[in-house]
Amino acid sequence: MMIQKSHSNREHLLESMRTLSTELDYQTVLQSVISVSSKLTNSEVASILKYEEADGHLHFLAAPWFQKDSLQSLRVPIDESIAGWVYKNAEPLIIQDVKEDERFYSEVDQAVKFQTNSILAIPLLVQGRCVGVLEAVNKANRAHYNGEDALILETLASQVALILENMDLEQRITQMQAATDRLEQMKKDFIAIASHELRTPLGLIIGHSTFLREVIKEEHHEQLDTIISSGAKLKEIIESLANVENFQSGAASIRMMKFSMANLIKQNIDTFQEKAKKKSISVHTDIKTPNLLLEGDAEKIGIALGNLLKNAISFTSEGGHVFVILEQIPGYAKVAIIDDGIGIAQKDMPHIFERFYQVGSHLTRQHGGMGLGLSVAKVMIDLHGGKIWAESILGKGSQFAFLLPLDRNQINAAERVFDTK
Ligand code: ADP
Repeated sequence: MMIQKSHSNREHLLESMRTLSTELDYQTVLQSVISVSSKLTNSEVASILKYEEADGHLHFLAAPWFQKDSLQSLRVPIDESIAGWVYKNAEPLIIQDVKEDERFYSEVDQAVKFQTNSILAIPLLVQGRCVGVLEAVNKANRAHYNGEDALILETLASQVALILENMDLEQRITQMQAATDRLEQMKKDFIAIASHELRTPLGLIIGHSTFLREVIKEEHHEQLDTIISSGAKLKEIIESLANVENFQSGAASIRMMKFSMANLIKQNIDTFQEKAKKKSISVHTDIKTPNLLLEGDAEKIGIALGNLLKNAISFTSEGGHVFVILEQIPGYAKVAIIDDGIGIAQKDMPHIFERFYQVGSHLTRQHGGMGLGLSVAKVMIDLHGGKIWAESILGKGSQFAFLLPLDRNQINAAERVFDTK
């Protein structure tokens, strides 16, 4: 008879464990654990207590429905309770008559108008560390809790411990996510305020220096040119910061117009001719579709193209070559900027389009910039429903290419995606 009973208990336990592991909602699982615990140990009630660092007490995490409300706000002290003893010593405990045990904390009974006689309490262990206690209370007919009851509860406790660990991890992830969101917001605010506050004085510096250059003697032109070009560089950095922020927050939109990609490439190359000449870099073009008209925001595409061209020239040594190719492929216009410059290591490739990312080698550090050029280029192209990517071999050169859709519907769809961000 006894053998049969323990056999059916084991079956019940296994069945319960199977059901519990398929349940997704933690609270439901914990409630099921306590009802299975009391059923399989033949107890009146069962409950789960969890240690809270914040107040150094045990809190009821799961209790029978008729006790739940009263127990929710109750705090069980570690030093004056049976559960506290089990928690502190990380050892199971059976008390046959709690009235005889000075560790018994009677306030729980008073709160729920209940009378506890016997207790079986099992520690909840996560990687050897006790995080709480699973209790079964009042075995039926005043019977004694035995080894089998303890074994059943220990098996269930291991399941509960896993759940508590998961709950803890999820809570930590949520807290970290909230901290990350706060930082992201602070960063956005900082960029918005800084770029706004810097723009006005910088505009005045550039404006007044340009005026001064007109009216003072030629011997001072060089100094003023330095002020003006440094001011322009600062302005560029501020614009880049604001650009990425505006596009990522959806504050920017594109102004659609028809434009010639071939002309845009030509104008852009013209602005970099002087820089290229200084390094004896030749810039070649291969325009396969000179009459191709695209619809999009020419100014923004021009910024993307300019950043790629600027990089190609900056990261190519004296006497090097830069090629710009325009062609039409099914559904898209493709622009490729190829250089035979210093190239990019494979380990850096996944990051180059990230904001503020710069390849940390001493070779590249001599170049100015803030690691914004490619991230700005990417948002401009993304905004048009396009695609931008790079291929590179260290020491040999790089190819940056982007696609722009020929169908304006795709551009509008891309803009809608950005608007909802
Ligand atoms: P920055 O504005 O500082 O140049 P970018 O976002 O434009 O930053 O580029 C990020 C990094 O990618 C650069 O610091 C550089 O190391 C690398 N890079 C970009 N373009 C090229 C290129 N054509 N050749 C080699 N390295 C490049």
